[in-house]
This record gives sequence, C-alpha cells and structure tokens, in this order.
Amino acid sequence: MAQAGKGRLNYRCPSCFMRDLDIDMFYDKDKDEYFCIRCQYRGNEADVLAKNQLARFRYGAMMRRFTDFEDFSREGEKT
Ligand SMILES: [Zn+2]
Repeated sequence: MAQAGKGRLNYRCPSCFMRDLDIDMFYDKDKDEYFCIRCQYRGNEADVLAKNQLARFRYGAMMRRFTDFEDFSREGEKT
C-alpha cells in the first residue's frame, strides 16, 4: 500500500483497545480511512472517534460489573 502512512493524528485502534492492546492505526489517504494492521478494523475519523468513546465506556462499565459482558470474561480473570 504505497498510499498508506500515518494520519494527521495518531489514533489507537478501538477494536484492539477493547482487547487491552494499544495499537496505532495507519491512515489511507485515498479512502480517508484509518486502518489497523493488527486486526480487521477500518473506518473514517468520525467512526474511530465514536468507537474509541464506546471502548472507553465499555471499559468503564467493565470495571464496575464486567460479568454483564460475556466477551470480557477472559479479562475478568485477571483481577
Ligand atoms: Zn486493531
């Protein structure tokens, strides 16, 4: 991908962030989208921001009552 590079701002991948991974995404100028080299996530800036908000929200909720989230049962074992 010759057009791929870092965007104006570095955004972490919301999908990886939810799995406890802090991964910077790359920016696709042609499509005006950010994408993650580690998972399948890709989305425009607004989508990234929205999902990062969601990730933060879910993390916060997890700390209080993570048993509501079956997907996070693995993380719950850490505490
Ligand atoms: Zn990712």
